Amino acid sequence: MAEAANSSSGTGTLFIVATPIGNLEDITLRAIRILKETDLIACEDTRQTQKLLNHYGIRKRLVSYHLHNELTRAPELIIELEQSASVALVSDAGTPVISDPGHRLVSLCLRHHVAVVPIPGPCAFVSALAASGLPSDEFRFIGFLPSRSSARRKALEQLMHETHTLVFYEAPHRVAETLSDALDILGLRPAVLAREVTKIHEEFLRGTLAELLAQTSVKPPKGEITLLIGAPSEQTMVVDQRQSLKQRVEQLETEVGLDRKAALKQAARERGLAKREAYKQLLQER
Ligand code: SAM
Repeated sequence: MAEAANSSSGTGTLFIVATPIGNLEDITLRAIRILKETDLIACEDTRQTQKLLNHYGIRKRLVSYHLHNELTRAPELIIELEQSASVALVSDAGTPVISDPGHRLVSLCLRHHVAVVPIPGPCAFVSALAASGLPSDEFRFIGFLPSRSSARRKALEQLMHETHTLVFYEAPHRVAETLSDALDILGLRPAVLAREVTKIHEEFLRGTLAELLAQTSVKPPKGEITLLIGAPSEQTMVVDQRQSLKQRVEQLETEVGLDRKAALKQAARERGLAKREAYKQLLQER
């Protein structure tokens, strides 16, 4: 029996179908089959999904399901699912529910005893993390940080002691601001800016937060971006006992390109000193 045919329980099935994040070839055979077999497809932007369906010659009823109609659309879909319809949920790109709408529908399905079946495939942060070169055995996926600076800084402060790779989704016009806040709050860490993954202009910029900030301030990046931040490296956190605080501040200014304030903050962080304490010590060393 076809997978998306009505289940014996009498209710339908919700399939969470991952779609390409750029390259249209990145879709599984099973995902294509499910999109062909289901009764309808719930999608974020019908025009976007129609392009994918046209590419694979699929003709199907589309229903919009996005952030702004989730509240009313989810119960409507449940009614169809309870009448044994099979529904594929897709987002504009990647895996639905991951920084995308869908959670409300999934939990409603479970409450109504409707089966939920994942159809795995692309997810931007997984591809970005895999190719980043940053430690991936343990990581923390944050998704989008708040767009307002004060809220963003607060969110970053809560990650100050996180030693695993941090993964963020970010809009291109906010990347420089986020890198600047991350450098200020998390300190000098290795980072990777994964841009347009799987697309023609795919690019991985690797460096320290300071280096990426310098690059993106000169030329703001375009396209879709996943930002990954590694744990502080040994190089930045092991204090060279022969080096005075003043020498380290000067090194961070000249070799790393930090301004005086950021260099002092970083040197203090490396030595476990409060900023005020470090400033006092710096004055004494003069
Ligand atoms: N559900 C999607 C997934 O599984 O990846 C993510 C949806 S979220 C609304 C979209 C964000 O993912 C973009 O703003 C960008 O930060 C990131 N993203 C999507 N496609 C990307 C790509 N090709 N390269 C890098 N980042 C991407």
